[in-house]
Amino acid sequence: MFNLILFGPPGSGKGTQSEKLVEKYDLVHLSTGNLLRQEIKDKTPLGIEAKSFIDKGQLVPDEVVIGMVDSYFDLHKGAKGFLFDGFPRTVAQAKALDNLLELKKTEIGKVLIRGKTSGRSDDMDEKVQRNRQDVYKKETLPVAAYYTKAKKVASINGMGNVEDIFERLSAIIDKKMK
Ligand code: AMP
Repeated sequence: MFNLILFGPPGSGKGTQSEKLVEKYDLVHLSTGNLLRQEIKDKTPLGIEAKSFIDKGQLVPDEVVIGMVDSYFDLHKGAKGFLFDGFPRTVAQAKALDNLLELKKTEIGKVLIRGKTSGRSDDMDEKVQRNRQDVYKKETLPVAAYYTKAKKVASINGMGNVEDIFERLSAIIDKKMK
């Protein structure tokens, strides 16, 4: 298996790049944000709980997210690999992911971190946006340090258009897969 993490602040275009990468490398896209939005749409108990956090720009509790990822793994047993998008967002999630992958006798191949971006942000309430940025700095940036320590990180220049960035990401993956 070949597993990737796409890492970047809210509004850095992770979604678009993820869609392109999963297609090119035949990976299963695991976006916890998308999974949570689907749960909300379906009005499941998990979705109802998650919505109260998401609406405030807070993180959904680790155990909820980890349980969801675990179930998603079970649904995709034959996957060639996963592209994690918006997950892990805390060090506890990163450790849980390591454990889950170890059970599958695999690991994270690369963590792709997008550097400087155009600064474009989602169309969202200002206070919620500010909360999301604060949460990113406090809870999610330590995840980058966690993977840097494990020597798994590759940084990408985040300036330029979608195609420029896609090429940079692909070049790193191609090198790693060789
Ligand atoms: P996203 O679309 O990835 O930006 O996710 C939207 C929102 O869902 C986030 O602001 C969080 O409230 C929640 N969320 C998504 N992924 C996670 C995660 N891995 N851990 C905790 N909360 C998450």
